[in-house]
Amino acid sequence: MLKGNKRAVVIGSGIGGMTAAALLARDGFKVTVLEKNDQPGGRAIGYVDRGFFFDMGPSWYLMPEVFSDFFKEFDRTPSDYYQLKRLDPSYKVFYGKERQYSIPADFEKTQKIFDSIEPGSGNRLKEYLDSARYQYEIAMGQFIYKEYSSIFDFLNRKLVFEGTKLHVFENLDGYVKRFIKDKDLRKILEYTIVFLGGSPNASPAMYALMSHVDFNLGVWYPMGGMYELSKAFHALCLEQGVEFRFNEEVRKVIVEDGRASGVLTDKGRTDADIVVVNADYPHAEIDLLRKGQRTYDERYWSKKKIAPSCVLMYIGLDKRIEGLEHHNLYLSDGWDEHFATIFDKADWPANPSYYVCCPSKTDPSVAPEGMENLFFLVPVAPGLEDTDEVRERYFNDIISHLENLLSEDIMGHIISKRIFTHRDFASKFNAYKGTALGLAHTLKQTAVFRPGHRSKKVRSLYYTGQYTHPGIGVPMVIISSQIIAKEIMKDHG
Ligand SMILES: Cc1cc2nc3c(=O)[nH]c(=O)nc-3n(C[C@H](O)[C@H](O)[C@H](O)COP(=O)(O)OP(=O)(O)OC[C@H]3O[C@@H](n4cnc5c(N)ncnc54)[C@H](O)[C@@H]3O)c2cc1C
Repeated sequence: MLKGNKRAVVIGSGIGGMTAAALLARDGFKVTVLEKNDQPGGRAIGYVDRGFFFDMGPSWYLMPEVFSDFFKEFDRTPSDYYQLKRLDPSYKVFYGKERQYSIPADFEKTQKIFDSIEPGSGNRLKEYLDSARYQYEIAMGQFIYKEYSSIFDFLNRKLVFEGTKLHVFENLDGYVKRFIKDKDLRKILEYTIVFLGGSPNASPAMYALMSHVDFNLGVWYPMGGMYELSKAFHALCLEQGVEFRFNEEVRKVIVEDGRASGVLTDKGRTDADIVVVNADYPHAEIDLLRKGQRTYDERYWSKKKIAPSCVLMYIGLDKRIEGLEHHNLYLSDGWDEHFATIFDKADWPANPSYYVCCPSKTDPSVAPEGMENLFFLVPVAPGLEDTDEVRERYFNDIISHLENLLSEDIMGHIISKRIFTHRDFASKFNAYKGTALGLAHTLKQTAVFRPGHRSKKVRSLYYTGQYTHPGIGVPMVIISSQIIAKEIMKDHG
């Protein structure tokens, strides 16, 4: 427990910020969260329009034990705040009008689907998942929950030894090919890399562990929508005595005698003994700190592989539609070209893969009766020029593509519509290059190679969230804050 009454300011009420706030308040800090927007949750927020409730960001609730472990730190369980449902089928994949498969939660049924496409691949899928389970257990047990303060923490003999077993030094695409020959089936084992803002060719094969998350741990949904999660973290923070100030944007981190001593917002000064940044890391370093105070300058960020942005489309239909499940993935023939337009030669993709979420298949509360709630996500390169003309073109192309896949009229039934992409990410979240996800997961941007949790230039200044270790995704940002809360207690407890 903390001695005295130290004050912590957290910049941003994303899941990462709220996790840190709750843990620090539990440990005795007087915590204030400053958030530029009017809701808690950061990327995990939502809005209501014409009776529809749209989750704006995350929609896959994965790695449920990370959430349970977090709530356990407060003698609580997720079910104290929200009700989870395991989805079955987990999702549906579309390769075209004629080739569509629902992937069941039951693994043996999934094996049969694999065998029907590539004889013998059901058993090889099992081998692949056994190795993914092993990778997951090693990663969770030894690498993910760990603070890397120097390169020596990372490049120790154990990691080099385990790293070989984790296939850190080969890429995911090559690794998947060893098990599965069929190109379309391989996409089912590779699509999860998009959750990490990576590409199968440039991400270490260690991330095969995401298939263990997908097939073995299952795909879940909090009834009411993912925003229930943000509400739960907010409620937990309030129970711990955290103060929230919404609609208050931090303009500067105050540094005195080399130490963060507070922040200046659009409403005035707030003093603190420590400052935790949950806002986008490049924004904090470039916009909130002066040159000599930055650990990473503009040049550093310009050389990094920034994770994708997305064209997001939130659509309410005045009818139900057949043929969709809760999660739906269109995995296009232009798979490699699409990744190339995101990571190699930034451009708008011509024949993109995309994701459609239809939560009204599971949850009647997110759409009026007899209607359907759709959320489309097309991953695209960060930093593209996002114009009204491009948005409308994508909107028309993707809707008519889905109409063709399902043989359904969609366009004529839209009663609620919103498009959200680069410039919205930049203005709503201060996102660097309009990225949705922060920093991609390449080998050179893993663990100690991600930007640090501690500033190297300013004492008592910490960073959490998707740019830092372990990385992108709601479970990962929870872990990021669990790590820094421990480090902060070491420094200040
Ligand atoms: C479209 C989309 C789909 C996704 N899908 C999934 C999924 O299905 N499953 C999953 O697990 N993950 C998913 N993710 C990733 C996941 O949502 C993020 O990795 C995670 O929510 C990031 O949390 P964070 O705490 O790091 O930051 P954020 O959520 O970005 O929070 C940062 C906060 O800081 C605030 N802020 C910024 N600047 C300032 C300032 N100067 N002053 C005050 N406040 C400021 C911002 O407004 C924001 O609220 C998705 C993300 C997106 C965008």
